[in-house]
Amino acid sequence: MLDIRTPLPGIFRFSDWLPVEGYLPSDAGPVTYQSEALARELGGLSHLFIGFSGYWPERGAQTDSCSFKELEALPTTVRMKEKGNGILQISSAGNTGRAFCQVSAITGAPPVVVVVPESAVDRLWTTTPTENVCLITVDGDYTDSIAFGNAVCGIPGIVAEGGARNVARRDGMGTVMLDGTVTAGELPDHYFQAVGSGTGGIAAWEAAMRLKGDGRFGTNLPRLHLAQNEPFVPMTHAWQNNRREIIPETDMPDARHAVSQVYADVLTNREPPYAVRGGVYDALIATNGTMDAITNTEATEAEKRFVDAEEIDLDPAASVCVASLIKAVETGAVGRDDSILLNITGGGYRRVAEDKTRFPVEPPLFGGVKKGATVDAVRRDIEGWVKSYA
Ligand SMILES: *Cc1c(COP(=O)(O)O)cnc(C)c1O
Repeated sequence: MLDIRTPLPGIFRFSDWLPVEGYLPSDAGPVTYQSEALARELGGLSHLFIGFSGYWPERGAQTDSCSFKELEALPTTVRMKEKGNGILQISSAGNTGRAFCQVSAITGAPPVVVVVPESAVDRLWTTTPTENVCLITVDGDYTDSIAFGNAVCGIPGIVAEGGARNVARRDGMGTVMLDGTVTAGELPDHYFQAVGSGTGGIAAWEAAMRLKGDGRFGTNLPRLHLAQNEPFVPMTHAWQNNRREIIPETDMPDARHAVSQVYADVLTNREPPYAVRGGVYDALIATNGTMDAITNTEATEAEKRFVDAEEIDLDPAASVCVASLIKAVETGAVGRDDSILLNITGGGYRRVAEDKTRFPVEPPLFGGVKKGATVDAVRRDIEGWVKSYA
């Protein structure tokens, strides 16, 4: 049975079901409320619950880095302190990197090595200054950052965050399902989320199975409705063709170009844990799930309707998710009285800027990595940085 530890802050009230012993003094955590305005706007949805991960103090949302990546960063950081030894390496299109920087900054937690595309460097800020970040920028896209980050993990003392294999990441993201279910009093019929890696979808499925096992929230296994952003939609394409395998040539032709065209570039993972056992494909099979492809226009139109109704700004990925809910309502894939958990995975960027100073994470120590350069170009610098923390 899930024991909610109310006195603990933020996400750590769910620490009973997080793979950690201790906690960090952070108010960031999942927040759920029942929507009135958007529910009305969409024709009168009687049980629309919004899981909001971001900054929106009027709703109790205190996730300063403004995305659900902070729900992953908090337990991962605690677990690393308790179980691991080493400095965490994170490859990111921006949101994950910012989340780990924020956690490191506010808690004085151990330092991190963050690798991002050069173009994403502006996305790295914290609401408390930090010097504990070794920031490496790569002249390339998110995929290039992942490849470079993997190479950086060959340096002694640095360990990979682990992606979907990281149980603290999955359980952290799964708290959106925990909070949504506890708030509504029952497991939802439908769960909506925009995905790049799909780890949040896997996490929602795992959390739902545990809640089902708990027994107090019904026996429903929520249907996963996952969405990607056209023209980069590899998982959607593979799923709609009834395939467990992603075939790069058919499912993501001209990937580099497609990635450059999407509205929500945090959704552009080229190697998602889709086919792997216990991965996205299995989660969709188990929940009778769906995968949608959302155009940029659909996403921006959905964003406008959401922002007008709920009065908080959105991460582009969350707009993709709202668009997929709108389509599902229109096609009748969800009924007006079904219970729906809409995972707004990021938002409140404008709202946080009103209340807090955002300190840029210092530009790369080594001037950034040039196109095609290997880790050898910066190995010495990184080793020196690691030693200074040993
Ligand atoms: C990373 C991210 C997603 C996608 O998460 P998955 O890892 O694919 O589950 C969605 N929205 C936002 C705001 C994100 O940062």
